Amino acid sequence: MADPTGFMRHGRELPQRRPVQVRISDWREVYQPFAAEKLNAQASRCMDCGIPFCHNGCPLGNLIPEWNDLVRTDRWQAAIERLHATNNFPEFTGRLCPAPCEAACVVGIKSDPVTIKQVEVEIIDRAWAEGWVTPQIPGRLTGMRVAVVGSGPAGLAAAQQLTRAGHEVTVYESADRIGGLLRYGIPEFKMEKRHLDRRLAQMEAEGTRFVTGVHVGTDLTAEQLRADSDAVVIATGATVPRDLPAPGRELAGIYSAMEYLVPANRVQLGDLESSPIDAAGKHVVIIGGGDTGADCLGTAHRQGALSVTQLEIMARPADQRPGYTPWPTWPLIYRTSSAHEEGGERLFAVNTERFVGDEDGNVRALALHEVELVEGRFAKIEGTEREIPADLVFLAMGFVSTGDTAEGGLLQSLGVAVDPRGRAVRDAQWKSTADGVFIAGDAGRGQSLIVWAIAEGRATAAAVDAYLSGSSTLPAPVRPDSMALAAG
Ligand SMILES: Cc1cc2nc3c(=O)[nH]c(=O)nc-3n(C[C@H](O)[C@H](O)[C@H](O)COP(=O)(O)OP(=O)(O)OC[C@H]3O[C@@H](n4cnc5c(N)ncnc54)[C@H](O)[C@@H]3O)c2cc1C
Ligand code: SF4
Repeated sequence: MADPTGFMRHGRELPQRRPVQVRISDWREVYQPFAAEKLNAQASRCMDCGIPFCHNGCPLGNLIPEWNDLVRTDRWQAAIERLHATNNFPEFTGRLCPAPCEAACVVGIKSDPVTIKQVEVEIIDRAWAEGWVTPQIPGRLTGMRVAVVGSGPAGLAAAQQLTRAGHEVTVYESADRIGGLLRYGIPEFKMEKRHLDRRLAQMEAEGTRFVTGVHVGTDLTAEQLRADSDAVVIATGATVPRDLPAPGRELAGIYSAMEYLVPANRVQLGDLESSPIDAAGKHVVIIGGGDTGADCLGTAHRQGALSVTQLEIMARPADQRPGYTPWPTWPLIYRTSSAHEEGGERLFAVNTERFVGDEDGNVRALALHEVELVEGRFAKIEGTEREIPADLVFLAMGFVSTGDTAEGGLLQSLGVAVDPRGRAVRDAQWKSTADGVFIAGDAGRGQSLIVWAIAEGRATAAAVDAYLSGSSTLPAPVRPDSMALAAG
């Protein structure tokens, strides 16, 4: 039984972020520790609703009211068991998820929602600290071999579930380290990589095999992959960035967000002394107002940028939940991430007209104009043209596809059909058009979120287990056609 008056006695409270000047001088996570008694009070705000709408918001089906109450009553070990029952990697979602569960929380109808994400991350951090997270070695082995291609959150979740079900799982990754976008996309200040490494050590101890530096389709052919495995999970993500073919696009100094973020992450991993794309002393413009743009923003400030401007073609959202995204849906509101708090200017309802270069072929400015929506299309507002200085431009307008087209690539060589948006086609059982080949994560869904990747990885594992064993007791939290939020 939950605390019936907790939400009336306690307001919503989150941990403080470290002071801006301190945190932009390092790359560590931005949040300060949160006292256990404060968290206890936050957990007590949960009403244990008869119909917990937070479940509806969470693709993983996290048992939120259960672990809120276990934290409130100081039963932390039971709390991590309930949390791990639905989520393989709460240390990732607890730090990185936009928390659709909180947008759907019933307390949020009239007040501020329960701090579900904070309770989640505190449970898993305490569990690691107490030594409660240990390898779950399978009790029996099936002798079946599963190849997982891609080591982002979808591939990792599928691999952990299938290893625990007793299958022999090998994860192939083309990059030199495991983790997908968790490793080379998401900056250290949002999630320190030690959280990923700790989880990978657990997975290896459970028996999952990791092979890095192998691009399946070229280094290892589709035929070899099929010959070596009884089932294949494709979890290769959606990696092709949306481009902006405006005049001047060919100028030096214009990069996709991932071209910028990967070397910045490699500096933190000790691979590089400094990044070849360094914002120190430069005017930076980021095109795209979403999370990926905010990651570029936080990175540019830590590198010592002179100025950073983030452009967004959509109008500035309202501060309060607008009527067209009513509770419990995901609200389209103005959000300020920790990176926004650190500085820079945000311009809304603007469009890039062209990139302006200097005599050496480097970008030096960006010409933009304001726009308004006219009959569903962005129309230029005449007389609003202007230039802003830009020594570096980062394109952060989302990702379009797996990079595989119907004409070529890994999917084609496996016999997996691709839809017109470049996504691998799968049926309601996560099966592709090739027998024994299953699709999980952004490769099938298109660009999305970590929580969806984990949920899809878990559900795909259940489908693969049933394919190999005739039936499965693994949980399948989502269906391929479930609605998703996309990261920007
Ligand atoms: C900069 C950035 C920041 C983001 N921030 C957030 C956030 O804060 N919160 C959030 O919820 N979501 C965020 N997202 C989205 C989230 O990271 C993705 O939705 C998620 O990682 C998708 O997981 P995935 O496993 O499907 O693919 P990915 O994480 O993309 O992993 C796919 C992996 O497959 C590998 N691969 C591809 N082809 C092959 C091949 N042929 N052979 C071998 N390996 C291959 C790739 O190298 C990659 O490592 C962000 C995305 C970006 C780009
Ligand atoms: S909707 Fe909010 S208050 Fe209700 S059970 Fe979920 S977290 Fe608790």
